[in-house]
This record gives sequence, structure tokens and C-alpha cells, in this order.
Amino acid sequence: MRVAVFSTKSYDRNSLETVNQGFGHELMFYEARLTCDTYALAKDFPAVCVFVNDRLDNSVIEELAEGGTRLIALRCAGYNNVDLKAAAVHGIKVVRVPAYSPYAVAEHTVALLLTLNRKVHRAFNRVRESNFALEGLLGFDVHGLTVGVIGTGRIGIEFARIMQGFGCPLLGYDVMPNPEAEKVGLRYVEMDELLSTADIISLHCPLTPQTYHLINPEAVEKMKTGVTLINTSRGALVDTAAVIEGLKSGKIGYLGLDVYEEEGDLFFEDLSNIVLQDDVFARLLVFPNVVITGHQAFFTRNALENIAHTTLANIREFEQTGKSANQITG
Ligand code: NAD
Repeated sequence: MRVAVFSTKSYDRNSLETVNQGFGHELMFYEARLTCDTYALAKDFPAVCVFVNDRLDNSVIEELAEGGTRLIALRCAGYNNVDLKAAAVHGIKVVRVPAYSPYAVAEHTVALLLTLNRKVHRAFNRVRESNFALEGLLGFDVHGLTVGVIGTGRIGIEFARIMQGFGCPLLGYDVMPNPEAEKVGLRYVEMDELLSTADIISLHCPLTPQTYHLINPEAVEKMKTGVTLINTSRGALVDTAAVIEGLKSGKIGYLGLDVYEEEGDLFFEDLSNIVLQDDVFARLLVFPNVVITGHQAFFTRNALENIAHTTLANIREFEQTGKSANQITG
């Protein structure tokens, strides 16, 4: 099938081209994101392949349909950036990669946690300058701390499994409890109890209208003083202004982010020669107890290979049958 592949970096291209040897799709790679300014690049392509920060709103989908596109193939699990209703109205099917490596994201979540609690980000810089003083680097044991997991699907449960290994009591909140939870010793509680009891809170639910700004000023208020909050899910789960206030007051002791609600203007690009325009993000960067990575939790060799394989298989299945097992229905 002819596919216009948007938001392509060299690593996407490498993995897709390698795996495509077994599929034979005709792939046209674009570095540009798919937005209202770039949809013309997809004209006459029956399929577009997109990632987390491409914007498939109603107007873009209307134009895609006009240009002959019948399939949107997401190279990711989350689909908050696609207007599914508009896609249905225009007869465009949407497919995704529901799971490619829950381990990649769960392990990165733990990487953020351990960086924060042992202040590895600060130690790294100090040692490079031959500053071996320990003042300011005092950490804490994770063992025995209560971990709250919000969203206990594929990634949340893998994160819980790892934290069980650390010897942490586990609390969970989910609108659809996971039968696997019992095996990892996770106890489901109401959101308020999780917020007020957990020492470490990690977000693993999707971004939906219900979860938008799940972590808002009221939620921060309910948390334990000094709590560690980690978000590797989607930026807009967290009201950034609320966590900045929480950090300033000391309510939030540590913050680890792999995602940010305005990341679309920042992440995946080298902006090191440009003056940062986002003052909220700039504020986050100067806290010593905040660690931010630029949406790289998924970024392992294993995950890229799985993403490429499932994406190209989804496209083939659609080409052959008009549908796909990984189709998203609104
Ligand atoms: P999943 O669908 O397996 O699990 C999501 C869980 O969240 C489900 O159990 C669901 O019931 C629960 N949920 C839904 N609405 C909820 C709500 N209102 N409150 C509490 N729980 C709710 O998804 P997954 O594969 O575990 O991925 C989780 C999220 O991680 C994705 O939606 C995506 O946004 C994010 N993600 C981030 C990266 C990254 O690189 N940072 C990579 C992959 C996925």
C-alpha cells in the first residue's frame, strides 16, 4: 500500500525500512508533522502513518478524506490526537499499536524515579567537575514506600511488578481493574485514598476528556507532603501550573516527567540554538528536584522494531480485508 509517513526521524525510517522488507509497502517519508499546514503531502496516499504529536483534528481529517486517504495508522498506543468521530464520518479507519513494549515505558518510569530519589542528575554534573561533595545528594530508600499506580493496564501493571520487586506496598486506581493486579499484590482503592496515602504516584492511564488535568490543584492538595509524582503517560494528565505550585510549596517533593502538556512545540526536535519561548516549561527546568525527559520512555530498540512490525501488519491487514484487529472504534 502507498503510505505517507509523517514525523519521521532517522530511527523511524531505519526501523520501518528494515521491517518493510517483509511487507513491500511503498513508504514515502516526511520529516514534517501532519497538521493543517502539511496535509497536502498526503494527497493521493490511501494511508497515512503518524505519531503522538501529529494533529489529526476535524479539518485535517476532512482534507485527508478529500485527498483519498482511507487509513490512519498510528505508530503509538495513545490516540488522543485523532478526532475519531471525524474519521468515522469521513469513512477513514484508524489503527494503532496497542502494545509494543510495556517494559520500555515501565522501566523508564523507574529510571526517572531512581534518578530523582538518588539525585543522579545532580551527581552526574558534579562528578564531571571533580566536585565529589555529597551535600545536597541525600536520598531515600524506595523499599517499603507505598506506590500508587493510576491506570493499571499493560504499562501500569509492569511498573507495579517492578516496584513489587523493590518491596513496595502497591495501591492502584483504575476505572477497569486488571485481573493481573492480584498477582503483583496491588490493592485497588478510590482515587482520594491513593492520593492521600501513596509516597510515590505514577500515572499510566490514557488521556481522555475524563483524565484531562487529573492532577489539578485539588489532587495536589490531597497528596502527602513530599510525594514523588511521575508522569510517563500523556502530558495533559497533569495541570502543569498546579504541580509548579506544589513544588514551590514543598507539597511535591520530586517530579519526573517524560511528557508535557505543551510538548508538541518542543519534543523530538533539537532546539538547543533557539530561545525557549515556553515560560512554564522553563520554570520546571530550574527545580533541582525535577527531572524531565522528552517523550523517550518508549524509545528502545525492541519497541521500535515492534512498532514497525505491528504498524506495517496493520496496514497490510487493512489493505487485504478493509479492517484490522487493531482498529480503534470511537
Ligand atoms: P492500557 O490501555 O493497557 O492501560 C490503560 C489503563 O488506564 C486501563 O487499565 C484503563 O482502564 C485505565 N484507565 C482509563 N481511563 C481511566 C481513568 N479515567 N482513570 C484511571 N484509569 C483509567 O494502556 P498502556 O499500554 O498501559 O498505556 C498507558 C498510556 O501510556 C497510554 O495511553 C499512553 O498515553 C502512554 N504511553 C506513553 C509512552 C511514552 O513513551 N511516554 C509510550 C506508550 C504509552
